[in-house]
Amino acid sequence: METSTFRKDYRDNEIGQNYSGIGHFLFTTIACLSVVFVCIYFIENANWKEWLVVPITFLYANFAEYIGHKGPLHHRKEKLKKVFKRHTLEHHVFFTENEMKCDSTRDFKMILFPPVLLIFFLLGFAIPVAAVLFWIWSTNAALLFLATALAYFLNYEWLHLSYHLPEEHFISKLPIIQSLRKLHQTHHNPKLMTKYNFNISYPIFDKIFGTYFMEK
Ligand SMILES: [Zn+2]
Ligand SMILES: [Zn+2]
Repeated sequence: METSTFRKDYRDNEIGQNYSGIGHFLFTTIACLSVVFVCIYFIENANWKEWLVVPITFLYANFAEYIGHKGPLHHRKEKLKKVFKRHTLEHHVFFTENEMKCDSTRDFKMILFPPVLLIFFLLGFAIPVAAVLFWIWSTNAALLFLATALAYFLNYEWLHLSYHLPEEHFISKLPIIQSLRKLHQTHHNPKLMTKYNFNISYPIFDKIFGTYFMEK
């Protein structure tokens, strides 16, 4: 289906009258930052081993982002067909390499994860892992993990949103956003989307696995 037809259909049928893109953005931002700040507040005299949780969690999150995107988001698996539909059949049709920008904040619905997914991620993954770290190691390790995981998630959301902002937006003009956006734009080419640039934030695992591709 053509992008313009798909966009019209999606906006008419999937974005409710009461949907607010700004509200969606604020919910994600405030929820994540609240958890991060509460965790930081309770960290006490962490030792260097506990601080190591931060880079390890960051790398693990970057790996999970890569594997999740390369796998179920672009290859239909029966159990995860909803995420395949949302990503490959919707996000990648709504935005293509030639039509990367959203037209209004209502289009944020097609970029940001639904709030329910954030709650699922928090309750189903982040808190259980933090609980295990608390149990087998220390409070600091658990808090550092939770803070890094949520900060990573929020950073991912902010970056992905920035790639789909109009080019004249001041955020789009930041050098780091320009180069990361270029990688994501290449990934939005339907012919390349199953081959390159699966990291949406920092292309660490794309470089490691040889799927990094910067168009000239
Ligand atoms: Zn995108
Ligand atoms: Zn993709």
